[in-house]
Amino acid sequence: MRLEISGVSHRYDQMEALRDIDLTIEPGEIVALIGPSGCGKSTLLSIIGGMLQPSEGQVSASGAVPEGCLNPLTYVFQDFALLPWRTVAGNISLVLEDHKLSKVERAARIDEVLAQTGLSDFRNAYPKQLSGGMKQRVGIARALAVRPAVLLMDEPLSALDAQTRILLLDEFSALFARTGMTAVYVTHNLNEAVRLAHRVVALRRRPGTIKEIHTIDVPID
Ligand code: ADP
Ligand code: ADP
Repeated sequence: MRLEISGVSHRYDQMEALRDIDLTIEPGEIVALIGPSGCGKSTLLSIIGGMLQPSEGQVSASGAVPEGCLNPLTYVFQDFALLPWRTVAGNISLVLEDHKLSKVERAARIDEVLAQTGLSDFRNAYPKQLSGGMKQRVGIARALAVRPAVLLMDEPLSALDAQTRILLLDEFSALFARTGMTAVYVTHNLNEAVRLAHRVVALRRRPGTIKEIHTIDVPID
């Protein structure tokens, strides 16, 4: 799916958070959105995801969605947002239960995303038994289970230690390349952005306006 953000500005009451953002995200592209704290990154991500209506401008999405897609734009939470009383498989199942999927299809999707995220041995574990890195793998698995066209991530690794961040970043990178995922990844960490993204978009200090766009060639192995 192709996303076209045009002329997007946003104000919270009198406070101008974003000014005149134009940005196009192509299918299969991993875009990192960087910039200092308060420059409007989360605001822009919420607007892209349709959770927030911009004061001005629009976001349009066009093109094909993956087969079996239940939610074209899917958000990955920073704090994982797992239900403690449900197992790993149960937490993933949760996002599928509102949809008319057969039990067999639901189980197949759960198996698939567990395998994709290296969680097959943890399907019956409860969140409290998992490290932070494992919990965020569940967060990603849960998002992938709906077969999104675009994954929206707001500092998904910020709750994790440095070593786990690097490990997960490289796992995400390989996973996205394998699945042809389109993703928008918000971070204030340039190293993370460069390590993951095809393109890094920097927002200026508030009100966020686009500063520069670099295309970064990510080695494919
Ligand atoms: P970033 O993600 O880059 O840190 P945000 O998009 O969270 O930036 O915030 C941009 C600006 O808008 C900040 O100054 C923040 O305080 C303000 N802001 C964010 N959310 C709200 C809100 N719900 N109400 C009022 N101001 C907000
Ligand atoms: P409990 O420990 O109470 O059984 P779980 O968290 O394991 O709860 O599961 C909650 C719900 O998630 C189950 O009722 C089931 O519908 C669904 N679920 C759990 N695991 C799977 C699975 N492997 N395949 C399909 N659905 C599952």
